[in-house]
Amino acid sequence: MQQNSRTAARVGMAVLVALAVVSCSSNGTGNGGGNGGNGNGNGNGGGNGSGVGPGGETSLNSETLAAQMAAMPLAELTDAQRDGLLQMREEEKLAHDVYVALGAEYEVNVFVNIPASEQTHADAMLLLLERYGLADPAAGNAPGEFTDPAIAALYTALVEQGRESLTAALTVGATVEDLDLADLASLATAAPDITLVYDHLARGSRNHLRAFTRQLGKQGADYTPQYITQAEYDAIVAGEMEQGNGG
Ligand code: ZN
Ligand code: ZN
Repeated sequence: MQQNSRTAARVGMAVLVALAVVSCSSNGTGNGGGNGGNGNGNGNGGGNGSGVGPGGETSLNSETLAAQMAAMPLAELTDAQRDGLLQMREEEKLAHDVYVALGAEYEVNVFVNIPASEQTHADAMLLLLERYGLADPAAGNAPGEFTDPAIAALYTALVEQGRESLTAALTVGATVEDLDLADLASLATAAPDITLVYDHLARGSRNHLRAFTRQLGKQGADYTPQYITQAEYDAIVAGEMEQGNGG
């Protein structure tokens, strides 16, 4: 329960931040940065459990992941680890559902391609839940529906903000990835199977953060990180899209 209230506090803060970020996002000076990507990702997921598309969308291959996990020992989950798995399952669904909703408003590739990646991230979390016999908090939930009320509130706030403008929507995208990265860092664990998945999710979030930042640059807007540090953010966006090297 303590974990839940901590989650609620963090997510509640995200709602406020989303409101604040959007309200000041239209006058960014912009740096026109971005290096145009490397254009050679084909997202085929061959052999290493992941694929990166030309726009940085980073998907996971469930079968490869499942095979890798099967060779790993089961952990004795702590309460914090268990709560973390449930939280990340819903956070990956949050990313998917927010991007799908915003993709209905704006025809830009990030909102067409990245939701499919987020689905594979949510699927990877489901593999972990099944592996540990945990009930899926997303079971039976329609798009935009969440078991954790704090995540449900965040969904509503983010979609509402994103509908204001394309810049607001791209800022929402960066905010979701920023939050994911901070949460994944805080949930870091020694369990190899969980680490395998979390590392893939974090790499995906870094690539997605690069993609949203690049699109914001085209709109003449900057993103200011709210959860990870400015130094961490700067290092991520200065880096190339990561192809990943498997687990
Ligand atoms: Zn994700
Ligand atoms: Zn993402």
